[in-house]
Amino acid sequence: MNIQETLQQKLGKEIAQASNEEIYGALLSMVQEMAGEKERTDSKKKLYYISAEFLIGKLLSNNMINLGIFNEVKDVLAQNGKNIAEIEEVEPEPSLGNGGLGRLAACFLDSIATLGLAGDGVGLNYHLGLFKQEFKNNLQRETPNPWIEEKSWLKKTDVVYPVSFKGLNVNARMYDIEVTGYNNKTNKLHLFDIDSVDETIVEDGITFNKEDIEKNLTLFLYPDDSDENGRLLRIYQQYFMVSAGAQLILDECTAKGCNLHDLSDYAVIQINDTHPTMVIPELIRLLVERGLDMDEAIEVVSKTCAYTNHTILAEALEKWPVYYLKKVVPQLMPIIEVLDDKVRRKFEDESVSIIDRNDTVHMAHIDIHYGFSVNGVASLHTEILKETELNNFYKIYPEKFNNKTNGITFRRWLLHCNPALTELLDELIGEGYKKDAAELEKLLAFKDDEKVLDRLVEIKHANKEALCKYLEETQGVKVSPDTIFDIQIKRLHEYKRQQLNALYIIDKYLEIKAGKIPAAPVTAIFGAKAAPAYVIAKDIIHLILCLQEIINNDPEVSPYLKVVMVENYNVTKAEKLIPACDISEQISLASKEASGTGNMKFMLNGAVTLGTEDGANVEIHELVGNDNIFVFGASSDEVIEHYAKADYVARDFYEKNPAIKAAIDFITSEEVLKVGEKENLERLQHEIISKDWFMTLLDFDSYKEKKEEALRAYADQKTWAKKALVNIAKAGYFSSDRTIEEYNRDIWHL
Ligand SMILES: *Cc1c(COP(=O)(O)O)cnc(C)c1O
Repeated sequence: MNIQETLQQKLGKEIAQASNEEIYGALLSMVQEMAGEKERTDSKKKLYYISAEFLIGKLLSNNMINLGIFNEVKDVLAQNGKNIAEIEEVEPEPSLGNGGLGRLAACFLDSIATLGLAGDGVGLNYHLGLFKQEFKNNLQRETPNPWIEEKSWLKKTDVVYPVSFKGLNVNARMYDIEVTGYNNKTNKLHLFDIDSVDETIVEDGITFNKEDIEKNLTLFLYPDDSDENGRLLRIYQQYFMVSAGAQLILDECTAKGCNLHDLSDYAVIQINDTHPTMVIPELIRLLVERGLDMDEAIEVVSKTCAYTNHTILAEALEKWPVYYLKKVVPQLMPIIEVLDDKVRRKFEDESVSIIDRNDTVHMAHIDIHYGFSVNGVASLHTEILKETELNNFYKIYPEKFNNKTNGITFRRWLLHCNPALTELLDELIGEGYKKDAAELEKLLAFKDDEKVLDRLVEIKHANKEALCKYLEETQGVKVSPDTIFDIQIKRLHEYKRQQLNALYIIDKYLEIKAGKIPAAPVTAIFGAKAAPAYVIAKDIIHLILCLQEIINNDPEVSPYLKVVMVENYNVTKAEKLIPACDISEQISLASKEASGTGNMKFMLNGAVTLGTEDGANVEIHELVGNDNIFVFGASSDEVIEHYAKADYVARDFYEKNPAIKAAIDFITSEEVLKVGEKENLERLQHEIISKDWFMTLLDFDSYKEKKEEALRAYADQKTWAKKALVNIAKAGYFSSDRTIEEYNRDIWHL
């Protein structure tokens, strides 16, 4: 049966007569059947990628691309007067992740399946996911983000595992999502859930009774942890995930003939950041329960688990008080104590112990001592781990440390989100790059081809027009595709320094008001969610929204500068924003962004990076060369030295630099106070002048200078298009297929 017939049969009517919702439902069920019929990857040894987040994005089109039916479906729909883009709109975006770490897990699943490796994801099925962001009175408001509908990608299974907490026994039920590889076999994403979860306990916004574990366990990703009950809930979630996951792993391995002594021949577990760390003591517990002695269980687990570190921000490395663990999972504490004891017998250095003298358990330390691999996610990041943050561990276990520079799946971040560019590439260099991303370099042969450069400019312009239309329809903001699109989209965090961009915008606004007219008009676009309890991050959003209101409504300024903050930034929005970008803002304080993957998506879509020497920006710089990137700011060595000497004083910059002073003073000026909240704005201003932990002001001058240089360079469209071309051509290195091949070669050995 062909696609037209299958759809008509599922719909029970002509496609032309069906609604977009009906067509979406029919396509979903067709794709699910096709994915179900695909061969499962199978091998003796299997990877389990355990992660608190899988930011998978919408699945319909991605699956159709991977199954090789996207174009056919699109054509069939078009013949019947239906537009695939409108059908895509019907699908809710699964809200199972927060940012880069979760998106990385999703890209990895795609690449693992595409490379034909046996590897499944293990995570949680959050019903309301990460909160949905709304803007009201220039402030962020959080609301629930329900995404599970009657028709969904989730398949309920009969697999149920008991999970015990202190005084509470529950069942974890497994749901599966098919992971289709590109022209290959399929894997699965296993998401555990609890049948008794109750969405109606959510009250105003996203508040709910944090103590009612049976009803709240899988409601939200990262429930507010600003109070103790919130922190305990996170431990409940983490243990629920790893206990069910560990039981699944042991069951699957046993079914394949594993005798548990040889577990590491059957399974490798990649621990994505510290959230799943309890899988280590839990597996040890289960192995002892199944007959191994403690020492052997520890050894077996240590050969099976590998850890990926995603951050050097000390506050993000999880530490749990012993008494929390005793309250929730007392069965793990004796094991963690044994693990700590073994470390203390071997190493005198207090800083590497698992339980510190304040009775706090350092989760990352468990991973490092009792995993066989520790990897960072970009060269610079791994070097900083080895030389600074985890130096004491590196001295003990140099052989465990390795780097795996992050990557992105080209299926979603090129083929799907930028079909026009994909078509041009197909025409110029063939389709080989879709399986072997290194072939993108063939594009370099067209570096001086005027016609190709013109095509790149046309494609970018068309993508910008599409984004303008979308922004007007969804947020009622009017912007012109003939301005430079300067985009910063990522989680809101002080280290990512959206506030630096905001200060630049204020500076620009003040210049225009003073009569200094910029050479080229710019549209500054932001997208960012702030963690609900992160006050300063929310204040920064408030400032940007105030600037948007002031600047866009000022007839003197708005012809040259506009500001747009996109509401509820997520994967779907990223897919619309990235292909339309001219300048990619990657301006974190050097040493603080582990890798970044947004930077890679932009590069692949022909945006030019304006960035610090941080994370994977360093590798982008090496690949494209000085002419095709705009680099500014203090180096990571300088930054690390400032921290060591504690000699950065924000107030000195404020007092000595008139442009900085004027921009910061503006935050609480009459203009801003007219549209904003005094308390929030004063708090933010005070924070920047008196603390500025991420050294915004240190880099202000060099940022401004580099940005002006980039804006001037844009005027020469041919040269700019050449920069775009080089960026696209050199992006092959950042395919997650390359990253996964390295994980497999060095860590998993599947
Ligand atoms: C890629 C991506 C991120 C990560 O962006 P960074 O700039 O690397 O922080 C976050 N959120 C979404 C929705 C993404 O697609």
